[in-house]
Amino acid sequence: MYERGSARGPSRRWRAWVVAGGGLALVAILALILVAPWQGEAPIEFSYSQLLVALAEGRVIEGTFVNGDRMEGLLHPESGTTTTGPVAFETQLPVGQVDHLLERFVSAEVPFGARASEPSLWTHLLFAAPWLLLGGLVLFFFVKGPGAQFARHSRTRSRMARHGRGPVKFSDVAGADEAKAELEEIVGFLKDPKRFGRLGGRMPRGALLAGEPGNGKTLLARSVAGEAGCEFFSASGSEFVEMFVGTGAARVRDLFRQARAHAPAIVFIDEIDAVGRRRGEATASGSQDEREQALNQLLIEMDGFTPSDSVVVLAATNRPDVLDPALLRRGRFDRQITVGYPDLKGREGILRVHTRGLPLGPDVALEDVARGTGGMSGADLANIANEAALAAARRGSMLVEMQDLDEARDRILLGSERRGLLLTAEDRHLTAYHEAGHAVIALVVPGLDPVHKVTIVPREKSLGVTAMLPERDRHTHAFSDLRARLVMLMAGRAAEERVLGIERVTTGAGSDIRHATRIARQMVVSFGMSRRIGMVDLSGDDGPLTAHTGRIVDEEVRRIIDEAYQEALRILDEERPLMDGIAQALLARETLGQADLAELMAVR
Ligand code: ADP
Ligand code: ZN
Repeated sequence: MYERGSARGPSRRWRAWVVAGGGLALVAILALILVAPWQGEAPIEFSYSQLLVALAEGRVIEGTFVNGDRMEGLLHPESGTTTTGPVAFETQLPVGQVDHLLERFVSAEVPFGARASEPSLWTHLLFAAPWLLLGGLVLFFFVKGPGAQFARHSRTRSRMARHGRGPVKFSDVAGADEAKAELEEIVGFLKDPKRFGRLGGRMPRGALLAGEPGNGKTLLARSVAGEAGCEFFSASGSEFVEMFVGTGAARVRDLFRQARAHAPAIVFIDEIDAVGRRRGEATASGSQDEREQALNQLLIEMDGFTPSDSVVVLAATNRPDVLDPALLRRGRFDRQITVGYPDLKGREGILRVHTRGLPLGPDVALEDVARGTGGMSGADLANIANEAALAAARRGSMLVEMQDLDEARDRILLGSERRGLLLTAEDRHLTAYHEAGHAVIALVVPGLDPVHKVTIVPREKSLGVTAMLPERDRHTHAFSDLRARLVMLMAGRAAEERVLGIERVTTGAGSDIRHATRIARQMVVSFGMSRRIGMVDLSGDDGPLTAHTGRIVDEEVRRIIDEAYQEALRILDEERPLMDGIAQALLARETLGQADLAELMAVR
């Protein structure tokens, strides 16, 4: 469509571009002059797993922990590459991996140090100068239009570069599709607040990410910033309460002042329950006044947003139930996004994301790994990828193969193997029968997941393991399935009793019993599976209403477990030859796979 007055538009735009080009050239020259001589060669960006591999291969010369979430250091290049001499590297450390990495440095006897990330005044100036200039230029010449977009982009990029990490995108977060869909709107808003307002969208202010630790709440928050290309400011709720009175509120104020100054921006508050508990409720730590002042300040900040602020607050917690209702009111954290444990597809996706940089062998089936990791968090799965890379390096293999992933999974599930641990012959005998007991039930009782592996190689957390491989994630469980599971759990102890007599059973069944008790209790108080209790829910915080009901609950839990135990004894007596066969095979070979078990079943 032809527009009147459009003749003026293009010429203006043309001028703006010329000025922008000139400004850019100037800035580029300045930046080159200022920065180049001091920069040296840029460090190579290493993934955490690559770092672990390099460490295991003895290529790391030294490392410095920066601010507890990054490592800088020197290493020898991989053999076969053209570079000679040490190269500088930089690695972003996954959350919670510092201790782990420290241990690795100590055991590899590689020198390491630590420093805070606060750069010296000199570097500050050095880096700030060109960007200040650019900022000034941009502000001067185009406050509106594509110029503004452009300015925002460069500044964000500069920060990202300075922190040595690329922006996290939605594609780095696997699974969590629903959460991403909900966050999409916030991305849209931050990308272009004005347009969002014109389209009549209600300005998002805050969203609460709720879920167990390690499932990607922080990652999601960062990816919103990455997708929108905006600034990311983060703090933990506990930072606001562990201080002298008054400083917590001041820190909240400061955080938001910074965010506003750099808008569009995300403010991310991890563990918001530390500061956001219901007011007037005593907490275990931190002064009450201090916390309430910080919370009040947070509410004030959120209410004080004007549409032009374009700051969105994301908060994370695993206890949304304890938050002060004022936080959840309209215009504050009025949307709650659940970030749960990943399902089968999600686990496969997370494994895929974290093995992206690894050379995977042709036998690797991530779907199978995902099937064997039900109940693990995203952080656990990321850890599997790292551990597998290490296991491959230890073997001296160029490829990460299925055996490495299996080993890594077992390691994370059960602790590392303690092959050196000397067991008495009696202990081995007992463990073999205990596991054989579990395995027999898993093999002959319908409704249980297939056995993937039985082993009596001792580990940090257990002497033996019967690992099952769920065919799929189950969301509902039939009564008969739960009962079968109880029988399976009790069968370890039942086998001990049959073989050694009730006098000599051991403490080895402790975790089986704990697990079984939890299931039986749920059957009674939540699932309406006890006739004496009936179909009422007694699982709330308040528990059973009367001492009398409480006693019946206990009796019912006991009865259900006892029946499962008797059933286990009965089946083991019936299947005694199979149990003996498995136990003997375990004593001979330590680990039995699916095929070995199928063979033993065939002779039954
Ligand atoms: P939370 O904040 O919920 O405690 P994080 O976001 O800190 O969890 O997750 C810890 C680490 O686990 C992440 O840095 C990432 O490596 C991994 N992770 C967790 N969930 C996912 C996911 N959905 N996709 C990819 N990686 C994940
Ligand atoms: Zn057991």
